[in-house]
Amino acid sequence: METTTLNNGVEMPMLGFGVYQIPPDETERAVADALAAGYRLLDTAAAYRNEDAVGRAIKSSGIPRGDLFVTTKLWVEDTGEENTRRAVDTSLRRLGLDHLDLYLIHQPYGDVYGSWRAMEALNRDGLLRAIGVSNFTPDRLVDLIDHNRVVPAVNQIETHPFFQRTADQRLMVERGVQIESWGPLAEGRNNLFTDPLLREIADGHGKSVAQVVLRWLLQRRVVVIPKSVRPDRMAENFAVFDFTLTDAEMARIATLDTGGSLFLDHRDPDVVSAIGNARLADLH
Ligand code: NAP
Repeated sequence: METTTLNNGVEMPMLGFGVYQIPPDETERAVADALAAGYRLLDTAAAYRNEDAVGRAIKSSGIPRGDLFVTTKLWVEDTGEENTRRAVDTSLRRLGLDHLDLYLIHQPYGDVYGSWRAMEALNRDGLLRAIGVSNFTPDRLVDLIDHNRVVPAVNQIETHPFFQRTADQRLMVERGVQIESWGPLAEGRNNLFTDPLLREIADGHGKSVAQVVLRWLLQRRVVVIPKSVRPDRMAENFAVFDFTLTDAEMARIATLDTGGSLFLDHRDPDVVSAIGNARLADLH
């Protein structure tokens, strides 16, 4: 597996498995299948309500802890210094782990500065090997960096062919922050899987559109965490290290950028309020 070295020296796989929207009763089986397919990076969140199922799959896999890279995320409701310490404890207990490889502030809302102070301390203590953020726009990211000691190792943001985030990535590279894509396949939106340009490039390599999109992100040095509940697709999404897109193909895919989200704008006041006030107990 290709890895990236985070700004604190921690090695992170470039490709992993995301478990958002996998129902809790299917998650253990899906994660077990993903681990059997070779995935070692797992991406969950307190808000996905399936950390305990991820933990059970990890335990029964028998894979040595040191071979895994486990990410989970802090929900808005739990931001603030004390709340964050409690939330980390809860996530560790649910996952059945004694440390996390990466802990992310899930959304740029609430008392993220208090959270960051707690995360910096837990990082120093070794409970969180790396700490980062998610859904931070460049302005929020720079403000967090400029007024704290530890620079986020990762910013996990929506990134796919229709929302490419190249300027955001440039800034992250300058600041030492690894970009990680959520929704690398755009959850199939905008007819991604039947897009004629992607289809043509895929046919030329004897690969699927999903494989071309993941490969394109990897060649841009974007970490990817595609989700699937189907073992055939898990294997397909993992088989992206045996071909290379040409510069011309990379440039053609660059033309698909719309410059906007297919999901939500984190700066929209209605989104800030809706996400900021969503309670863990009400999330699925
Ligand atoms: P995604 O990975 O872009 O797309 C997943 C969808 O594509 C599923 O409907 C899946 O269906 C389908 N799919 C997967 N592989 C396929 C293939 N090879 N061919 C055809 N269809 C395929 O979307 P995502 O789950 O939103 O994003 C990935 C991960 O990012 C999440 O699981 C989560 O860990 C993380 N995430 C984070 C945030 C955040 O705010 N930080 C937000 C969203 C997601 P099947 O399952 O039926 O195969």
